[in-house]
Amino acid sequence: MKYKAVLFDLDGNLLPLDLESFIQDYFRALSASVAAHVEPKRFVSALLQATQVMLENDGSKTNSQVFMDSFLPLLDCKPETLMPLFERFYQEKFPDLGKDIKPLPQARQAVELAAGQGAKIVLATNPVFPRAAVDARLEWAGLGDIEFDWITSYENSCYCKPNPGYYMEILENINLKPQQCLMVGNDTREDTAAGAVGMDTFLVEGHIVEHAGAPAPTWRGSWEQLLELLQ
Ligand SMILES: [Mg+2]
Repeated sequence: MKYKAVLFDLDGNLLPLDLESFIQDYFRALSASVAAHVEPKRFVSALLQATQVMLENDGSKTNSQVFMDSFLPLLDCKPETLMPLFERFYQEKFPDLGKDIKPLPQARQAVELAAGQGAKIVLATNPVFPRAAVDARLEWAGLGDIEFDWITSYENSCYCKPNPGYYMEILENINLKPQQCLMVGNDTREDTAAGAVGMDTFLVEGHIVEHAGAPAPTWRGSWEQLLELLQ
């Protein structure tokens, strides 16, 4: 295998999940956990608004800073009240949201194959979630024990997909050139954006999210075809 690093998207890729319906369950559960302090409709509206601002982060601050700077002023609630509730939510309630998900054996095979070939393995999930929510989703995917070389989360990233800056930031952290990397994902815009910085891209069929006018990936195929490429 020619790659020195393989980047894997999580939702709809390593983790078999329909993101849209998951986000609805997630927002419902999160807003319920703070309902004693913030009216759920107002909470969700602030969440969506701040997420949109975070998605446009230009790299000057971390995504978590951008999110909180936008989110907190929209609510009449002190951060000292809200933050412990969030933390508790991610520890106690969030893990249950994925309890019915069945891990995908090929996902684990691909990650282990890449690592076994000496490549760095990166969890390149759109960094709009706290690390605790990323770790919980890795557990759902049956990958909680895998030692990734780098995992993007909203605490350590200053861009979101499909901004090429997101991929540049990963390259800095793993100290490699784009031509040495393969990005594996399921979203024709967010994941193939890695191609804009010079990485090869592989779209895995199963939960592909299509966008009109999206750039073509280097490859598009099944998990089996990906496993062949990683050999
Ligand atoms: Mg995805």
